[in-house]
Amino acid sequence: MPFAALGLPDYLLRAVAALTYQEPTAIQAQAIPHVLAGRDVVGVAQTGTGKTAAYALPILLQLNAAARPASPQPLQVLTVAPTRELALQVAAAFRAYAQFSPRKVNTLAVIGGEDLEGQIRALRRGAQVIVGTPGRLLDLIERGELHLAQVQTLVLDEADKLLDLGFADELDKLLALLPPKRQNLLFSATFSPKVAALSERFLSDPVRASVEGELPVVEKIVQRVLQVDRDRRRMLLQHLLEEEGWKQVLVFVASKVAARNLAAKLDREGISAVGFHGDLEQEQRLEALRRFKNQQTRVLVATDVAARGIDIEQLSCVVNYDLPRSPREYIHRIGRTGRAGHKGLAVSFVDPDSEAHFALIEKRAAVSLAREQIPGFEPIVLPAAKTKGAPAVKGRRKSKKDKLRAAAAKALAQD
Ligand code: AMP
Repeated sequence: MPFAALGLPDYLLRAVAALTYQEPTAIQAQAIPHVLAGRDVVGVAQTGTGKTAAYALPILLQLNAAARPASPQPLQVLTVAPTRELALQVAAAFRAYAQFSPRKVNTLAVIGGEDLEGQIRALRRGAQVIVGTPGRLLDLIERGELHLAQVQTLVLDEADKLLDLGFADELDKLLALLPPKRQNLLFSATFSPKVAALSERFLSDPVRASVEGELPVVEKIVQRVLQVDRDRRRMLLQHLLEEEGWKQVLVFVASKVAARNLAAKLDREGISAVGFHGDLEQEQRLEALRRFKNQQTRVLVATDVAARGIDIEQLSCVVNYDLPRSPREYIHRIGRTGRAGHKGLAVSFVDPDSEAHFALIEKRAAVSLAREQIPGFEPIVLPAAKTKGAPAVKGRRKSKKDKLRAAAAKALAQD
């Protein structure tokens, strides 16, 4: 079933397409129609089954469809989550799903342990959606900084965990402050007696959507982030082509010159490669594509603009040799792999200078990826020294002994 069949508007369809979701997961297909119909819903689904979109997408539709409320808009959606990590993740998901929405939807995570003053300042600027942990939410209410009087939708996410962590009293207090007329959505990995009692107390005639036992969404595209110094990227790419046996790779670079140079260098090393960029004649382009499709060329080194027209089924690997400029471009690039039901691999090279930029991409694409280092290619360039006038400091390249020592320490740590 396509997402469009769920009655979602174009701006949400664009967002899920941008995140490379191909079709709704079971919990989304079950819950979205009920949420849209305004019903209270109990969703029994594990994290990883796509439950966040099951409530966030229809909520965003409701926020956009409602008559324009006063300015600044009051808080309309309260999501309570048991942990800081989940709260941050859910807030990031709301933002990613709202990226094309006609109305600006301010989403804020309010979580314990983080800068209270900063959260108060953000609250004063106004948020329509808040995702918070119970203690911090109550703290802000007591300080008179958070008002729940206009909340229309309450989401209790991972309700079983909220209860297991002993938040029952906090939940009681919070729920007593909400307006009685509201929509309630409760999600839980299991429908334990405690969760059933909670639902009984606070929900009104809820529909149950259950995908208990459903496996997590298999990420179609495996995303890896490799830390490597800029001047060692080509060596690392060659190493990976060999070690990991990548048959065909689409490598993204930032400029025509880089596309030409990298392709030429790889070719010289005996790896068949072609630069694919805007300076090629139409004929040359078609020929390059034809050879890549026939697997006569192993590496296509492309710029974003040139790559736009490429449509190759079963492309198994994409490499961000240069990082894309925007999160949208990142999703676009990695979406070129993992097509037609095949698993894809997207590898990004980051160095100390591009780390902050990549962190921003992760935030906007609502992912958080582990950093990897490939033995022998560990970065050695230290971040540029901040002191005025001091030149960028280069670290010492590791000796073979250093590397062996590091590998031994790593092995020990893993034991
Ligand atoms: P969640 O259970 O909401 O934490 O989602 C788990 C993961 O599945 C997240 O990485 C989502 O971005 C992803 N996801 C959610 N819905 C879909 C979908 N329909 N197709 C593919 N991936 C999805």
